[in-house]
Amino acid sequence: MTGCRNAIEQIYPYLDSEMGRWKATRVKWHLRRCQGCDGAYEFEAHLKSVIRDKGGGDEVPPELLDRLRALIHEEGTEGP
Ligand SMILES: [Zn+2]
Repeated sequence: MTGCRNAIEQIYPYLDSEMGRWKATRVKWHLRRCQGCDGAYEFEAHLKSVIRDKGGGDEVPPELLDRLRALIHEEGTEGP
């Protein structure tokens, strides 16, 4: 599906509520239609809540982000 890459990039500002209403609506719309991106969003949202629970602020460890991106990349790969 087209727009996945875009949607993934928007997940972070979307989670942080740093984007305009219209953009946020478009992201939400994509997440509803696309299970792959929705999964990534759920993962990110969970990650964020865990970090918040631990009082780690808004900073996500780069290692964790790398892992997440690898995960998303795998999801997006279809067949050989
Ligand atoms: Zn998608």
